[in-house]
Parts: sequence; C-alpha cells; structure tokens
Amino acid sequence: MKTVSVLGSTGSVGRSTVDLILSSPENFAVQVLTAQKNAELLAEQARKTKARKAVIGDESLRPFLSELLAGTGIEVAAGRQAVIDAGAEPADWVMAAIVGMAGLEPLLAAINQGCAVAIANKEPLVAAGPLVIALAHEKGTTLLPVDSEHNAIFQVFEPDNRSAVERLVLTASGGPFRTWAKEQIARATPAQAVAHPNWSMGAKISIDSASMMNKALEVIEAHYLFSMPPEKIEVLVHPQSVIHSMVEYADGSFLAQLGAPDMKTPIAYALAWPRRMQTSGARLDIGRLRQLDFSAPDHEKFPLLPLAYGCLRGGQSACVAFNAANEVAVAAFLQEKIGFTDIYRVVSEALEQNQQGGALQSLEDILLLDHTVRRLCESYINSFTSLKRAGHS
Ligand code: NDP
Repeated sequence: MKTVSVLGSTGSVGRSTVDLILSSPENFAVQVLTAQKNAELLAEQARKTKARKAVIGDESLRPFLSELLAGTGIEVAAGRQAVIDAGAEPADWVMAAIVGMAGLEPLLAAINQGCAVAIANKEPLVAAGPLVIALAHEKGTTLLPVDSEHNAIFQVFEPDNRSAVERLVLTASGGPFRTWAKEQIARATPAQAVAHPNWSMGAKISIDSASMMNKALEVIEAHYLFSMPPEKIEVLVHPQSVIHSMVEYADGSFLAQLGAPDMKTPIAYALAWPRRMQTSGARLDIGRLRQLDFSAPDHEKFPLLPLAYGCLRGGQSACVAFNAANEVAVAAFLQEKIGFTDIYRVVSEALEQNQQGGALQSLEDILLLDHTVRRLCESYINSFTSLKRAGHS
C-alpha cells in the first residue's frame, strides 16, 4: 500500500487524482488533502478517501471545515503555513497540483522529504527550476512529470542516451484560437478563452493554453526537467492532441507517447510508477486514426511563446518575471479588467522593466522578485485601465 498526499486536491488535476485513488482503494492510503477555498469538496474527498488530514488554505474556513468533518476523526488544519506543512507530512508519493507560484513552498516541502513527487504545478518549475532540481538531487527525490507533454517525454526519454537526444518536440493543440484571426483574438472574452477544444482544465491553464503561454511555460519546464538546452526544445502545433510529445534521437528515431487527451493517463502513470495501473479514462481508438497534423506555431498571433526562449537566455530572474506577470495578467483578464492581448502587453512590460539577469540564490530572492514583479504589473494594469476609462487607447 502506497501512502499518498494530494496538494490541490479540489482542482482539475487534484480531482482526477482523487478519482484514480478511489478507483483502487486497496493500493493507496491517503495522508493529506489540501484546498484553498473549496471546503465542501475537500471534506467530501477526505471522507471518501478516509484521509488522515484535510488542510484548507483560507484560515477563515477552518470552523466550517471542522464542522463538515465533525465526528470523522479526520484532522483539520488551516492557513498558508498548514498548506506548506502538508507537503512535509510523511508519504511515499505526493501530487503537487496547486495552481501557480503558491505551490512552490509546498512543493519544496514535499521534495525535501525525499518521497516520489508527481509534479503538475508547472509555475514553480518555471520560476525556481534550479532550486527545485537541486533539492530533488540532494534529497534523492524522483520527480514524476504530470503535464501530459513532459509525462510523454519522461516515458520515452532514455537517460543513458542523453547525449544522443537531438531534440525534444513538445506538441501543442493550438488552443481555442488556433484558427482565429489576430483581430478576433484581440476581442476574445474569458468564456471563449477557457473553452479548450481538447482538454478540460482549470481556468488559469485554460487561458494560458489560449494564449500559448502554457507552451512557453512548458518549454522552460522541459529545460529544467530534462536538462536540455533551449535550442533542443521545439514546439509543433498538433491539433488532434494524440501525440503528447516526442524525443528525436541521433539515429533518426522518434519516440513518442500517444493517448486520448485525458489527464487521467499521465496522472495514473505517475501514481502507479514504476508500475502501471488499470484506468477507466478515455481510450484512443488507434484503428480509427486517419490523420495526424503538425505545423509550426504562429508567433505573430501567439507572441508569448517565443518569449520563453529569451527568458531562458536571460536567466532565472527573467523566468520569475515572465511567470509572475502572466499570473497577474491572467487574473486581470478573468476579472475582465484587461483584454486578451493585454496579457502579452503586461508580460512584455514586466520583462522590459526587469533586466537584472542572472541567477537567484535563494528561495527568499525568488519570492521577493516574484512579489515585486506582481506589484509592478498590478500598477501597470491600473494605469492603463484608468487611461482606457478616461477615453485614451
Ligand atoms: P485548478 O485551478 O483547477 O486547481 C487548483 C488547486 O489549487 C485547487 O485545489 C485550489 O483550491 C488550489 N489552490 C488555488 N490557489 C491556492 C493557493 N493560493 N494556495 C493553495 N492552494 C491553492 O488548477 P488545475 O488543476 O487546472 O492545475 C493545477 C496545476 O497543474 C497548474 O499549475 C497547471 O498548470 C498544472 N497542469 C494542469 C493541467 C490540467 O489538465 N488541469 C494539465 C497540466 C498541468 P480551491 O479549489 O479550494 O480553490
């Protein structure tokens, strides 16, 4: 029996993880589940999985969660520090599925205990990749990529043949605006942007997919997870989302992983690793496949994607700024404070303002820069939204 914890259990990845755990209850003993606000779902998941502990990030919801779990014997904790500590609760396997940089410290706490860590939460890898990877090496932690592209690469990457890897090819569905004109994209609403054609995901990653920022984050994520230079990481648009990514080797072989676009497949791979488990997720009907299309991404329509390569050349502080600015801009877009193409405007302004370059030594340095960039972006957004209100363009 594997002891497991799920950080961010009420989210899209978290819910799929809990479903898989419940599909095989004899194999998993749940230690801790965490959420930020959704106390009802957290309590329901904790009851169903017979979790040892349930943690809610929003401190004000502690009494409500305690009430929901009264009489169950399930321990309750609340507040930011309790979420971080959840990562450190002893377990054989931890799923990191919090959204955004809020997941960095819980992730580090999980890695620090040396268990296997399934990593869906890409933003901490983007902003703090060197720190995350160094700690994993130091503690002997296995990082199991859950992002479908990185999970695909993990499945076909031959570590002993690292020097024979010519390139990693990350596939991209192209998102809901792949066929839209640039002018149409500029007028896109949050509802249109979250309507992903192939994948069902949380709001933030859905917007990132629509802007192709998600693929930009994934380029940086792949760089750190597989220790590959940016020039060996390529993105190809593949609208069917059947090939989840591939590795090209020096002998001309491409190794790829295929499957239906269902996050349960990579999550199950990580959950059962190093074995495989039965799942009831969507299946690819390979005999009915007629066509697999590939094309180069349109950088003019999706200008955030090429910025990832510049950030990797610009060093870690550029990656921190890139991620922080995007988190602020996506939140503002979802609140309809800014337009869709303003996301690029905010991110490029943050990169412009942050030219310090180089590595960041500590977690404190990373969090400080992340905080500074967020404040800068918020005031930038306020300045141009108030100009808009005053009738200027
Ligand atoms: P969701 O928004 O659906 O879920 C996020 C989870 O994190 C929820 O449990 C939420 O709790 C919790 N959370 C939110 N804010 C905080 C906070 N400040 N502190 C602690 N917990 C918090 O996200 P997804 O599941 O879509 O994505 C999770 C991560 O996985 C992201 O980094 C994403 O990029 C990555 N990923 C997601 C994929 C997908 O298919 N969804 C695919 C590949 C990667 P509550 O519900 O209470 O708000």
